[in-house]
Amino acid sequence: MNWKRMVQVMVVVAALMMAASFPIAAQVPSAGAPGIPANSVSTRPVGDTSAIAKEAQGWLADLIKINTSNPPGNEQIAAMYIAGIMAKDGIKAEILDLTPGRSALVARLRSAAVAEPSKALLLVAHMDTVPVDKSKWSVDPFGAVIKDGYLYGRGAIDDKGMLAANLAVFIELKRSMARLNRDVIFLATADEETSGDASIRMLIAKHWEKLAAGFAINEGGNVFLKNGKVEYIGVQADEKVAYNIAVVARGTSGHASQPTKDNPVIHLAAAVAKIGNYSAPVHFTSIVRRYFEGLAPLEDDEIGKWMRSMDTADRGEHAQRVISDASPLWNAMLRNTIAPTVVTAGVANNVIPAEARANLNVRLLPGDPIAAVMNDLNKLVNDPQVKLELQPSAGLAAPSSSLESEFYKLIAKIVSQEFGGAPALPFQSTWLTDSAQLRLHQVQALGLVPFPLTQDDLKRMHGDDERIPLAAFDKGVDVLAKIVTEFATAH
Ligand SMILES: [Zn+2]
Repeated sequence: MNWKRMVQVMVVVAALMMAASFPIAAQVPSAGAPGIPANSVSTRPVGDTSAIAKEAQGWLADLIKINTSNPPGNEQIAAMYIAGIMAKDGIKAEILDLTPGRSALVARLRSAAVAEPSKALLLVAHMDTVPVDKSKWSVDPFGAVIKDGYLYGRGAIDDKGMLAANLAVFIELKRSMARLNRDVIFLATADEETSGDASIRMLIAKHWEKLAAGFAINEGGNVFLKNGKVEYIGVQADEKVAYNIAVVARGTSGHASQPTKDNPVIHLAAAVAKIGNYSAPVHFTSIVRRYFEGLAPLEDDEIGKWMRSMDTADRGEHAQRVISDASPLWNAMLRNTIAPTVVTAGVANNVIPAEARANLNVRLLPGDPIAAVMNDLNKLVNDPQVKLELQPSAGLAAPSSSLESEFYKLIAKIVSQEFGGAPALPFQSTWLTDSAQLRLHQVQALGLVPFPLTQDDLKRMHGDDERIPLAAFDKGVDVLAKIVTEFATAH
């Protein structure tokens, strides 16, 4: 970082730190909002979390005001802000530079003089966000506007909400002088949204010893609020794997006044149409099987009946169709999916091009080979003018986290208690998270964004008018505090 930029950054961070010392006025009570149960009696040593949650609302607002849209990310400014908040409580955070302007942050609360990495607990959240289309927002996406009990802003849920909640729990552990039975490591990552050169992959390659842990809590799972109450809590233990395939049609270029049958635009369009109408066969992973078993009794009778029939010989196929049609999420949990995303062809209105291309974004169930999908698609397209080319930027297949571990069982028990008895279900996310990289390093990473959210709020992530109900944020801070206290402190 050059000096001029350093000075600019410090001015921004200093201004935000000033703002942070005045917590935003509480707009809503921290519990008792529709569907959100009141906090249960506090656990030791972290007690009543309502004050720290209010303070963390202010940090969340500040983090939203630091624009970390990726690209370019600029996470270094957010990292410096977090380091400043921690410094006030005597916690020395380390900023790990990855590429110019892009850094991760790591801080540790020690349980003993000598660290025991295999026992340590990581609290993970990413600092970057997806970009915004400002014209579609009803408020400034970086203004941290509060309206009707919601805090609006890019990243309010994904993932600055979790970042601020992690920070709240981490600082409260320090303030309460909790006696830890394992190290607790706070990790703020960069470049999660594009998995590029400043991502956790690079961080692990350069600095693994600073974040080595046996357990992690990250985004990936959610608390699903439906019809005014928590329906279930999805604890992410595995995720699908992303690939891209280029569909390339080639032909003879020529004058558009004399059309030819080998026009690559026609061949590409036909291939994309076939792929678009294709549905890969259903394949149950053990996590997805358990998910639907747990969900069936919670859904209405009709949907529940078909969920239970998906794996039967006689009605299985029909049941799979009903459930897939009922929800794009369920459809994507059951099978490999292929989504055409980008189409490019043509140089001029009156020229038949020599080439036309489409990109397919493929999401594979963990454990499935991409070669089999390529093979199926080649057979389906069946056109000598069209070639499928696997792109190099493939995702990573990682082992799933255990559903039999004490860690998973403890989280499942606490969230169920705290959300009115709603069950915790193992969840295989259709989207990617930093957890795949951690799981590849033998970390038992579980995904849980602890805020109770409706489908409508969840849809705004990566969309417009992203927002978090402040009552849900407060509740999430309390639940996360209970999980971390139970898992990482002596009592
Ligand atoms: Zn995220």
